[in-house]
Amino acid sequence: MAARLKDYASVVGTDVLQELEVLAEKVEGWSVQHINSTAVGGGVAEMLQRLNPLMKDLGIDSTWDQIEGNTRFFRVTKAIHNALHGSAVEITPGMFDDYRDHLRSQLDRMTIRGDTVFIHDPQPAGLIALKERCGGAWIWRCHIDISTPDRQVWDFLQPYVNNYDAAIFSMPDFSQELNIPQFLVPPSIDPLGDKNRELDPGVITGILEKHGIDPNRPIITQISRFDHLKDPLGVIRAYQLVRKRTDCQLVLAGGEADDDPEGPALLKEVQEKAAADPDIHVLLLPPFSDLEINALVRGSSVVVQKSIKEGFGLTVAEALWKRKPVIGGAVGGIRRQILHGVTGFLVRSVEGTAYRIRQILNDDALARQLGENGRVHVQNNFLLTRHLKDYILLMLALRHPGQDMIPV
Ligand code: UDP
Repeated sequence: MAARLKDYASVVGTDVLQELEVLAEKVEGWSVQHINSTAVGGGVAEMLQRLNPLMKDLGIDSTWDQIEGNTRFFRVTKAIHNALHGSAVEITPGMFDDYRDHLRSQLDRMTIRGDTVFIHDPQPAGLIALKERCGGAWIWRCHIDISTPDRQVWDFLQPYVNNYDAAIFSMPDFSQELNIPQFLVPPSIDPLGDKNRELDPGVITGILEKHGIDPNRPIITQISRFDHLKDPLGVIRAYQLVRKRTDCQLVLAGGEADDDPEGPALLKEVQEKAAADPDIHVLLLPPFSDLEINALVRGSSVVVQKSIKEGFGLTVAEALWKRKPVIGGAVGGIRRQILHGVTGFLVRSVEGTAYRIRQILNDDALARQLGENGRVHVQNNFLLTRHLKDYILLMLALRHPGQDMIPV
């Protein structure tokens, strides 16, 4: 059964919950609506699955809806996503028309129920046209790294964003020139969900063995959708360099997201590259494989998130919480989670990744220390109770525009 708010006292302490309750009284009965583009797959859906019910626990009338998409629309939004991340992507005027036309069809389909509407990411950003009809405070919650966006795409999106009441980013350097207030809210993980809760060693071993992974040999793991920006092929190359001198196995586990049409082709490429090596385990996981992912990470010696671009990278916080040393690409929100040499290592190349993996595999004391530090870092910064508090404070701030102090 899903954890209720009171259960979090065992992790964050009663003070944190009391503070949340005091704040929640100020917004009691308010309605909040979250809208994104997919109910499963990826970090946004992961967070909303938990934030939405816990907001309800706090007495907020919270709902979560998704826009409908089709292949054509998601082909455009994936291109927009990649371009905002700074990748070279060709987007034709016709593709922008596809976005506009599809969003227009959603305007009549969506029912807006919230006094505060959180629109997550670029896919549903065009729903802002409904603000005039429905009223309320509209917040564009951006989960991606838009610090160096493709100008053409940002010029297309920016007018939508400027019609919101506020924007939220995960890192200070993602903020943009906008004529609306901008807030910094890092993402979070749920320490009590199946993805992160403590597991018996027997469960971990059982799941590793079920997948043919040897629990007694070093295991390097990356959990990610099969997406070029997560660089699974780079992870394979780093593993191959490590394997020249150090025994180890590689686990690449990931699923598919409804709004990502590029996944299947990359998965095929990864499977081909892995086919000749029985120590590379490519696991295509169905949605809601939380316990499985939890066990794979807990059974690992080192966790990698070798992203080339990353909004935040929840997988990093998930691994740090489990006291795992993490090696991550020095990009986006990973830089906020991996404090280089303290909670893990930031890397910029395949060779660097291999070097740091070997260093950790050969130094148990270092691995333990990084893991302990990582746990504290997540406890202090990236748990879902902090996220709830930030959202409530933001809702209050928007109801009291221009006020330095809000009476609570
Ligand atoms: N995840 C999952 N199944 C998978 C791959 C990933 O449940 O097969 C989860 C992962 O544990 C994390 C989220 O999806 O909670 C991915 O979030 P992240 O911010 O790392 O990346 P995104 O996919 O949003 O780019």
